[in-house]
Amino acid sequence: MFPRGTAPRGRPASNRGWVLPVPRHPLGPGGNNRFNNAVPETLPPYEWRLTPPPSPVPLPPPPPVPSPPPPPPHTQTTANRRKRSSEEHSLDVVKRQRINISPRPQWSAPPIPLPPPPRRYDQEVAGTSRVAQASHDPVYHTPDVPYVPSSQPQPHTHPVPGSSSTLQSYAGDKLSGQMVELFEACQQQYSDLVRKENLRSQLQSDIQSIIPDARLYLTGSSMNGLGCRSSDADVCLVVDQRDGRREPIAVLSVVQRLLRSLPYVVRTQLIRAKVPILRFRDRGSDLEFDLNVNNKVGIRNTFLLRSYAYADLRIRPMILVVKKWARHNRINDASQGTLSSYTLVLLVLHYLQTLPKPVLPSLQRDYPECFNPCLEIDEVPERPKHIPSFISCNQSSLGDLLLGFLKYYATAFRWDQQVISVREARALPRTRSYEWRGKYMCVEEPFERNNVARAVHEKVKFDLIKAEFAQSYRILRERRDLNSILPVRATINEEASRT
Ligand code: ATP
Ligand code: MG
Repeated sequence: MFPRGTAPRGRPASNRGWVLPVPRHPLGPGGNNRFNNAVPETLPPYEWRLTPPPSPVPLPPPPPVPSPPPPPPHTQTTANRRKRSSEEHSLDVVKRQRINISPRPQWSAPPIPLPPPPRRYDQEVAGTSRVAQASHDPVYHTPDVPYVPSSQPQPHTHPVPGSSSTLQSYAGDKLSGQMVELFEACQQQYSDLVRKENLRSQLQSDIQSIIPDARLYLTGSSMNGLGCRSSDADVCLVVDQRDGRREPIAVLSVVQRLLRSLPYVVRTQLIRAKVPILRFRDRGSDLEFDLNVNNKVGIRNTFLLRSYAYADLRIRPMILVVKKWARHNRINDASQGTLSSYTLVLLVLHYLQTLPKPVLPSLQRDYPECFNPCLEIDEVPERPKHIPSFISCNQSSLGDLLLGFLKYYATAFRWDQQVISVREARALPRTRSYEWRGKYMCVEEPFERNNVARAVHEKVKFDLIKAEFAQSYRILRERRDLNSILPVRATINEEASRT
C-alpha cells in the first residue's frame, strides 16, 4: 500500500531530486517563521517540486546538462510540441540558487527534431486588422452561429515557429490586458507555497507521532499551478489501510484529536462528505487546510492539471480569471450546489481542447505512461516532468478565449446530451449509466470517470449557472471590458486583504 521507495517510519521516500528542501530562513516581515527549524534532520520534506517563482528579469539559459533525461515517450507526437521555454529553464535555475541545491536536468528534454515547416498561423491572418483577425479567429469562426465542438478527438496542431512566447503577446487588447493584470496580482507566490510546505512538513511530523507510516501530500491548486494567494491548502494524508481498521472517518477523528492539542492549529472541523475531510486553520497565517485520507486520485489529478497548466502560457491566467468570475457570481461553491473549482478547471480545459484549432491536446491520450492510474504515488509528479509544452496554431488572445469560453457554455454545449471528457479531449455522448442518469451537468473525472459536477443536483442552481454564462457572455461581447463581469480592482484588493 505504501508507495514504492517510501521508507517506513517517516523516512524520506527517496532523494531523487524532485524534492524541494524547505528553506530555513525566515519568510520575511509578516511571514510565518515558526517552522524555520521545525523540520527534523531525520525527516526531509517530501520531494515534490514547488511552483517556480515568477522571474522579474530575463535570465540566461541554464548550463548544459551532461546527461539528458530519456526522450519523451511518444516521439511520433513530438512534431506537435516544443521544449520548455528558456524562461522556464531560467526560473528553475533561480530556484535552485535560492534553495542552494545542485542543478538537475529538470526541464531539459533532448532536442526535438522539427517537422517540415508547418503552415504558419500568421499566414492565415496576414493582412487582417485586429477586428478582421477576430472574425477569422477559431473562437469566432462562425460569428453568428453558435460554435459546435467536434465530437471527435481533434487532430494535433502544428508547432508554430516564432509564435508568441510571452503572456503580453496574448494581451494586446484591453480585455486581455485586464486578465493578465488580475492574474499577476492574484496568482500564488513562491513564498505562499513555501509557507504551505513548511506547515505540511510540520503537520506530517506531528501526525507521524501517532501514525508512524503517515505521509502528507500537498494537492489541489497549491500544487497544480492554478492557485491564488488566498487559496486554501488541500492535503492528502496517505496511511496504510491494510489492517482494515483505518476507515477515513476513524483516521480523521484521531487526527482531529491530535490537531486540537497542537498550538498552531485552530478551528478544526470534521466534514462527513462523500470524501470526508478535516478542515482547520493555521493560527499564525489563518491559512485554511482541507485534509482528506487516502484520496489518492486527488494527487494524480493534481499533477495532470499541473501539466495542463504549464502546457501553454494562457492556461493559468484563463483559469484564474474564470475561477474569480465564478466566485464573484456565486457559482463556485460545491457545498451550495454550484461548481467546485475543480469542475471549473475541467470546463476550461475541455473548451480549449475542443476548439477547431485546439489550444490543448489530451495529455492522457498522448502520454498514457505519465498518467497511468496505477502509478505509485511517488512516481506521479515524476513522470510528467519531461512533457514538453504544447504549441497550438491557435494563437487567440486571452480575451478572445474568455469570450469563446462563455459563448461555448452559454450557447453550444448540450448539457442534456453530452459529457465533458478532458481525458478524451471531446464531448462524449451521454449514456443512461448510473453516473450520468438524471444529472444536470456531467463532467468526467479524468481518472475515476465519475461525475465531478454531481454537486449540481438542484435545477434552480443549474439554471443559475447557465444564466450566469449567458448573461456574462452577452455583456462581455458588447463591452469587452472585464470589469463588466468581474470587478478587477476590488478582486485584486480582496485577494491582497486575505493574504
Ligand atoms: P481553489 O483554488 O479554489 O481551492 P482547487 O484547485 O484547490 O481550487 P478544489 O475544488 O478545492 O480545487 O479541489 C481541490 C482538489 O481536490 C482538486 O485540485 C482535485 O485534486 C481534488 N478534487 C476535487 N474534487 C474532486 C473530485 N470530484 N474528484 C476527484 N478529485 C477531486
Ligand atoms: Mg483548494
